[in-house]
Amino acid sequence: MIRKRKVVPKICEDCELHEGKKTRTEQLILCEDCAKKDEHTFITKTKILSKYYLNETDIEDVENIEVNNPHARSQSMYLYKLSDIKSIFMEKYKQDDKDTSTTYYTS
Ligand SMILES: [Zn+2]
Repeated sequence: MIRKRKVVPKICEDCELHEGKKTRTEQLILCEDCAKKDEHTFITKTKILSKYYLNETDIEDVENIEVNNPHARSQSMYLYKLSDIKSIFMEKYKQDDKDTSTTYYTS
């Protein structure tokens, strides 16, 4: 007789309130709401470069997760946390605004 494994409800590791399931990227238990947060959302490098106008240098120090590319098995994909990318984006473009306004007058 095969004994059934007891199913323990998995509680979200973020809010610790709701039941969740393990995410593929972070391997964390997250509920639906927390999984939607920026800090648990991952985007690919390609998207970062096109959507957030960042370049490779901007994100070279950012922590990323290497995953198998579902479209090409031999290649890996690099995923970045949306919250990290957004803060770099904000920093870069806030800074750039000031820089360009001063360079307009000095050059
Ligand atoms: Zn949660």
